[in-house]
Amino acid sequence: MPTQFEIPLDESVQILKRVLPLMSQQRVPTIPQNYAVWYDYVTKKNDDLAAEVEALIDKGDGFDPTSCQTIYEKYFLAELHAEVDGIQGAVRVAVETVLQELGGLGDEISHFSGVLDDCGESLKNNPTQEDLNKLVLELAKETARTRVRSQEVEGSLTSMATELTDLRAQVDRLSRDSRTDSLTGVANRRAFDQAMKRMTDEASADDSDLCLILADIDHFKSFNDTHGHLVGDAVLRFVAQEMEQCVKGRDLLARYGGEEFAILLPNTPLDGAVMLAESIRAIIEAQVPKDAEGNEVDNVTLSLGIAQFNRGEDIPAFIERADECLYAAKANGRNQVMSETDFAKH
Ligand code: GH3
Ligand code: MG
Ligand code: MG
Repeated sequence: MPTQFEIPLDESVQILKRVLPLMSQQRVPTIPQNYAVWYDYVTKKNDDLAAEVEALIDKGDGFDPTSCQTIYEKYFLAELHAEVDGIQGAVRVAVETVLQELGGLGDEISHFSGVLDDCGESLKNNPTQEDLNKLVLELAKETARTRVRSQEVEGSLTSMATELTDLRAQVDRLSRDSRTDSLTGVANRRAFDQAMKRMTDEASADDSDLCLILADIDHFKSFNDTHGHLVGDAVLRFVAQEMEQCVKGRDLLARYGGEEFAILLPNTPLDGAVMLAESIRAIIEAQVPKDAEGNEVDNVTLSLGIAQFNRGEDIPAFIERADECLYAAKANGRNQVMSETDFAKH
């Protein structure tokens, strides 16, 4: 079955032309999440979603931000929520089982210690040979019973440990997915925002260097128009992979927006960041990317802007300064690196 990404451009434009007037008529802001809902509604992909949207249209005035968000989360995030709920349920069952098993083992041990006490008492009262025989038999029986029970508990705890290891792997995967851009495999905007907060806090605390590179593919719109969106996607993956090879250690490469990437460079002075940006620019310029079938396509170029963090400054101000440098690199002819020091000269 073709994926949604394989839809022909003109067909998607036809859908867009039907979706936008409807959204505008219902006064729904055209943010991606809302568009996803209305796209599904218009293309009748999901009967339940269509019925819910229909009911809100009939109601009139039903598309406030909360109801838009509710529909989006219900139909687009439900799968994720179901997975998280499943993991939570499995963890709860595992913990309850462990507690139950440990409780049972505790009872068994108290019982066994009671048997030992009784034996001790019997030994005080001049036991006959027959009493002793009985006692030994009783003790052997109780010991075997306790051994079986503790083996059962051990088996159950081992299988719970395996289950908890699997659950932990599932949680790790979900957590990784939530921080990864699905197209390119590099960090996504969410991971970038978290890293930015952490790294600016650190740089402010210990007055260390921190630089930000923003890189944007040049004329990517016309590249897509010429080669199609799928080749465009392959090029985005290619650029991300090439950039990934250039960053190391604690540096963070993220897909910042559509065809825009960001690199956070802790403990890196501006001249180091400029050198890295320049080598990325040269590598991308020199490579000839291939489409999904392995055919070579036109090479792409990058424009890059760099800012150095000023201790204590706001994150938006820091990003804005890198963005201004990127804008200057575009205005100055593209396929080049512009840092704050170059920017000051122009
Ligand atoms: P500039 O040199 O000024 O950056 O020009 P540009 O064409 O790259 O910039 P513009 O912002 O006008 O267009 C960006 C284009 O990037 C629009 C869209 O076609 C493309 N794009 C954004 N995200 C994706 C994506 O996920 N896949 C593909 N194939 N293209 C994308
Ligand atoms: Mg752009
Ligand atoms: Mg661009």
